[in-house]
Amino acid sequence: MRAAYLTLGCKLNFAETASLQDALAREGARPVREGEKADLCVVNTCSVTDVADRKCRQAIRRMVREHPGAFVVVMGCYAQLHPDLLAGLDGVDLVVGMEQKGDVVRYVKERMARRALPGQQPAAACHEAIAVPTRDIRTFVPSCSRGDRTRYFLKVQDGCNYYCTYCTIPMARGRSRNGSVASLVAQAEEVARAGGREIVLTGVNIGDFGRSTGETFYDLVRALDGVEGIARYRISSIEPDLLTDEVIDFCAASRAFMPHFHIPLQSGSDEVLRLMRRHYGTDLFAEKVRRVCDVMPDAFIGVDVIVGMRGERPELFEESYRFIESLPVAQLHVFSYSERPGTRALAIPHVVCATERHERSQRLIALSEQKRKAFYARHRGAVRPVLWEHAKDGHPFHGFTDNYIRVTLPVGQTVEDNAITPVRLGDFAADGESLVGIPV
Ligand code: SF4
Repeated sequence: MRAAYLTLGCKLNFAETASLQDALAREGARPVREGEKADLCVVNTCSVTDVADRKCRQAIRRMVREHPGAFVVVMGCYAQLHPDLLAGLDGVDLVVGMEQKGDVVRYVKERMARRALPGQQPAAACHEAIAVPTRDIRTFVPSCSRGDRTRYFLKVQDGCNYYCTYCTIPMARGRSRNGSVASLVAQAEEVARAGGREIVLTGVNIGDFGRSTGETFYDLVRALDGVEGIARYRISSIEPDLLTDEVIDFCAASRAFMPHFHIPLQSGSDEVLRLMRRHYGTDLFAEKVRRVCDVMPDAFIGVDVIVGMRGERPELFEESYRFIESLPVAQLHVFSYSERPGTRALAIPHVVCATERHERSQRLIALSEQKRKAFYARHRGAVRPVLWEHAKDGHPFHGFTDNYIRVTLPVGQTVEDNAITPVRLGDFAADGESLVGIPV
């Protein structure tokens, strides 16, 4: 059987698709090659914005068109939120909700076997949806995906109990739950045996780790740090109120946790944070950033920001901008607020128009560029270890330092990919996106 996969959205979705791909490969389904027709198509969807929803519908239609007659399965956040809508699309056979995502292989085998009964006509699409209400989602489905030859994404947690007013993720992924420390250490050991050097811990609300096993995120990072063969861990994103001083201090002194944090702020205005029902104010955020900088002065700190949230009046955006400008962080990930059906934010009266949202977003993107370049420039001349990634033919080798500076090797120089070697950081490379690394 030949299977085609298409994943939209976050790293968690990619990790889950990869695990499903492995499970289907054990049943004899190999990925389609360029130009081949698939017997089975899997689309793993995202529903973070209305644009994401639209892209998912387009992706499903494209799969149906490119692989006529294939059995088409749709899973992911959009599938959980609107199973019947997606099941009704032309060519869709099966829509699987979050609670059932661990059973996809069984469903596919049963239904494809039925389709192939002797003497049967090629089947019309089944249009079947299997999903339970989100409040009944309990299962943690383990997943680990290989991003490229060097980096793996290990899902440690799923779901979220926070219910920020703009967010649909808890409605799609259910309540917070996690794998046990022991099971995740076992997965990390497997990655090490497969030659992986770096693991990115992924989840929806990672800092909430331990709800379903009575453990803590601190227990997890301590245990993972001891896994031999894994040289680097990064934490994909952690809520500021859950980033404890204990975890920060442990990472600073640890063997393999990198000086790299990604902390969602969302707004630098306390009033907007209250409208968002975030669990902290700007004081706490600034204190966490300070703590990281105190114990890891070279740490790369990335920050998520949402612009144009309902209620973000112009003066509140200016306040937010000034706060963000004052933070010693290296990069901003800027998202424009998107109205999502079913969210409490829709009851907030002040609406920011699309043009204004775009302008605010552009200003923060420009600020992010300034901050990133300043962070890179501050490290020129320093010697730092780089984990080299596989270079495509004709392209220079590149990799990332421990503190997440992208480094390019001078043209013509080679290095073993998946190796970690020290370089002296030089000038900005021609792409402006990385520093040139001189091997030492
Ligand atoms: S913490 Fe807030 S933004 Fe993040 S997933 Fe949970 S509800 Fe959504």
